[in-house]
Amino acid sequence: MDFEFSPDQRALQDLTRRFVEREISKDAVAIWDRENEFPLPLLDKMAEIGLMGASIPEEYGGSGGGVMEETIVLEELARHSSTVALAYGLDISFGAVTIERHGTEAQKQEFLPQIANGAVHFALSMTEPDGGTDILGAMKTTAVAEGDDYVINGAKVFTTGINIASYLFVVARTSRDPEKPSRGLTVFLVHKDTPGISWNKIEKLGSKFLHSYEVVYQNVRVPKSSIIGQEGRGWHAVLDTLNNERIFIAATCVGLAQGAFEDANQYAKERRAYDRPIGQFQAVQHQLAETLTDIELARLMTYKAAWMQDKGQDCSLPAAMAKLFASEAAFRATDRGMRVMAGYGFTMEYHMQRYYRDIRQLIFAPITNEMNKNFIAQVGCGQPKSY
Ligand SMILES: Cc1cc2nc3c(=O)[nH]c(=O)nc-3n(C[C@H](O)[C@H](O)[C@H](O)COP(=O)(O)OP(=O)(O)OC[C@H]3O[C@@H](n4cnc5c(N)ncnc54)[C@H](O)[C@@H]3O)c2cc1C
Repeated sequence: MDFEFSPDQRALQDLTRRFVEREISKDAVAIWDRENEFPLPLLDKMAEIGLMGASIPEEYGGSGGGVMEETIVLEELARHSSTVALAYGLDISFGAVTIERHGTEAQKQEFLPQIANGAVHFALSMTEPDGGTDILGAMKTTAVAEGDDYVINGAKVFTTGINIASYLFVVARTSRDPEKPSRGLTVFLVHKDTPGISWNKIEKLGSKFLHSYEVVYQNVRVPKSSIIGQEGRGWHAVLDTLNNERIFIAATCVGLAQGAFEDANQYAKERRAYDRPIGQFQAVQHQLAETLTDIELARLMTYKAAWMQDKGQDCSLPAAMAKLFASEAAFRATDRGMRVMAGYGFTMEYHMQRYYRDIRQLIFAPITNEMNKNFIAQVGCGQPKSY
């Protein structure tokens, strides 16, 4: 057993950390958050130093790393901004992985180098207004074949990142089998400027500069060549990216927890009460100690799942457990951080309130922790499927 990063991984971590200190200061993030404005040139800068291509194969313009490299970058980004990490994850942990695993050679040649050089960005348009957990039951968007094209009609909700994306992965029904609702779904890669797509921003509590939208698809005509994977086998493609998605969220939560912890720890060294730093009070020390321990465990679980995925092992259970534990651990880290900082933690002048707001969504998106526990109970404990 070896707990060390390789020299290349250590170098990637150092590179990302220095980039984050320079380009993603917490004060800059506070401005983006307040103004609801994503700094798009940031992604270009990340591409310039090789972060966008860190896990893309060399033959497609990347540097050939894997899920562990993604994890390293995500964790460092999320230390200062989980929102920037989510934007990175949409392109890399979702977009690149989906195309790499299910795209045709032509799609790989077209998109992967453009992801590595920061020219294209992606959003996932899957969840519908009737529900995200029972996605198969709720999915009403259809795509009907017409000659060499498909015509998409329907409505989505919470499609995130259209403010920076060029392409949307749209999941739609191309056929319906009442016996097997997972059959007949198809994934389309659709340029967001395609006629017939309109969107409406949803105001939300956190991640304020990566906007989420209700999206309407009205007679959106796309060529057959925009299908990713096989027609009617979209659910298979979605499921195949889930482990990666869970590791992506877990890594983001580890970084977010670390950032919140660092703020609280520093504050405890500086803030004074009763003629001593508040960090001298055991009640404060224990909150910090519990958070540090939570982070260590969440990080180990996340790295293990990433390592297994890179080795080609089945990591579905460790990835689900990592997402569950890391998101709850990060939530606790922000809650304790707020307790340690008390009044100032609640003010917009400090960053703790942003960590506290931003973590909320990762408890239930992209998968709710309740649904995650259903999976863990079923696969890990051998209990019957509960739904
Ligand atoms: C900020 C944000 C960004 C998002 N980004 C995207 C995106 O980019 N693309 C996209 O497609 N979607 C996105 N989503 C949607 C997200 O994936 C869903 O919110 C999530 O899947 C939960 O679905 P829901 O909100 O409809 O809740 P529901 O499915 O309505 O669930 C409500 C509650 O019921 C519980 N529940 C339901 N069924 C069960 C069961 N069988 N057992 C136990 N409990 C159950 C859930 O756990 C939850 O507590 C985003 C959501 C948010 C908030």
